Amino acid sequence: MGARRPGPTGTARWENWARTEHADPCRVARPRDLEALVREVRTATADGTRVRAVGAGHSFTGAAVTDGVQVHLDALAGVEQVVPQPDGSALVTVGAGIRLRALNAGLAARGLALRNLGDIDVQTLAGAISTGTHGTGAGLGGLATQVVGCRLVTASGDVVEVSATQDPDLFELARLGLGTAGVLAAVTLHAVPAFRLRAREEPMALHDVLDDLDRLVDDNEHFEFFWFPHTDGALTKRNNRVTDGDERPLSPLRHLVDDEVLSNGVFELTNRLADARPTLVPRLNAIACRALTARTYTGASADVFVARRRVRFREMEYAVPRASVPDVLREVDAWLRRTGEPVPFPLEVRFAAADDLWLSTAQGRATGYVAVHQYHRMPHRRYFDAVERIVAQVDGRPHWGKLHGLDHHRLADLYPHLPDAQRVRARVDPAGTFRNTYVDRVLGPVT
Ligand SMILES: Cc1cc2nc3c(=O)[nH]c(=O)nc-3n(C[C@H](O)[C@H](O)[C@H](O)COP(=O)(O)OP(=O)(O)OC[C@H]3O[C@@H](n4cnc5c(N)ncnc54)[C@H](O)[C@@H]3O)c2cc1C
Repeated sequence: MGARRPGPTGTARWENWARTEHADPCRVARPRDLEALVREVRTATADGTRVRAVGAGHSFTGAAVTDGVQVHLDALAGVEQVVPQPDGSALVTVGAGIRLRALNAGLAARGLALRNLGDIDVQTLAGAISTGTHGTGAGLGGLATQVVGCRLVTASGDVVEVSATQDPDLFELARLGLGTAGVLAAVTLHAVPAFRLRAREEPMALHDVLDDLDRLVDDNEHFEFFWFPHTDGALTKRNNRVTDGDERPLSPLRHLVDDEVLSNGVFELTNRLADARPTLVPRLNAIACRALTARTYTGASADVFVARRRVRFREMEYAVPRASVPDVLREVDAWLRRTGEPVPFPLEVRFAAADDLWLSTAQGRATGYVAVHQYHRMPHRRYFDAVERIVAQVDGRPHWGKLHGLDHHRLADLYPHLPDAQRVRARVDPAGTFRNTYVDRVLGPVT
């Protein structure tokens, strides 16, 4: 991700991590502080120029794309305030541009942690919450559910603090709203006391995972699995808090072999081979399955949640009712077997509790997430379209930051609060300063 060659506007052309989107902003702004950010937004609104904050560019969609002012918040990325709570947790206010890796380190230094995380930590906090980034855990919500307050600069250039008690409607859009409420300058999170996790990774047959899914999901704080297409092989991951003092750190050699060589180095080569000889994919996946081994280790929560992803890919992820996961996977399996579509990348399946955030993919229902990936050099459209047809039958909701083909007409059927979000946008941004093409497509124009 990042600036590459100059675009037609003279600014460096911006590209997202997946190389699915690029932008030629008319201006790139890196405000040094809140006052500078306010000036940027005020001037842009007065000129009728659009504004879009960008994080780490890890959305696969055009969520961060703009032809207006592109705002980078790397300077607003410190830990501002920590308010301890009687139960040992704390309300932590941080600059919205902070990277998750720095946030995790800052929390750890204070004996704190986030309750749940996704599987990488390079995103900004603002970018992650704005698209509904999540991890796994049947009793837990995504990152935005851990947000208790936001400071944002609205289109008028006002700095407002919002929370469940201070303009709760605007808070809804601020904590998960694709940057349409304004530019997030700071975010207050409810952090928990630091904790350690025991990770148990175990290969299983997919049909056994699906037959026993409820028990696996409910018996573990964080359960997920990866399924290798064209095979019946899955790798299950169970992360649970260490309560008995059992410490089993992963040896540096095992970490190097499993997480760097097999998950990144060899995996890149496998994908290149798959691209060159697609007919080999079922055999390559079968070999990958046979190479899977069980392992158990413990570590600080953030270290266990997070992995490195160096092999570039395209991804689509749908939130479906949790009970639908087995049927969805069986249908995807049937489609892959019928068509022989070469897919070297495993599917990832995760879980979340129902929540009540207006635009959360888990709003109002216990959720299973089915994520499909394709190596970036290989075609993904036919595969993703097929999976999209399958999840449509169970009212699947797409991750806001990952590829999908839905627009606001269909999304309004899936999100009962989408009209509320539009009402708030019309109130705080009537001129559409924070619009872009993707937002227009998925939320609709501001009326
Ligand atoms: C390798 C990889 C792994 C991933 N793993 C996961 C995962 O485990 N779980 C998951 O749910 N998702 C995952 N994602 C998706 C990713 O978390 C989201 O797309 C996230 O939005 C990326 O954050 P970012 O900082 O790159 O934001 P960007 O993609 O740069 O921006 C995302 C949105 O946030 C807005 N925004 C950014 N900063 C601000 C601000 N200050 N104020 C207002 N709006 C702002 C942007 O305008 C845009 O609409 C992954 C993506 C990749 C590429």
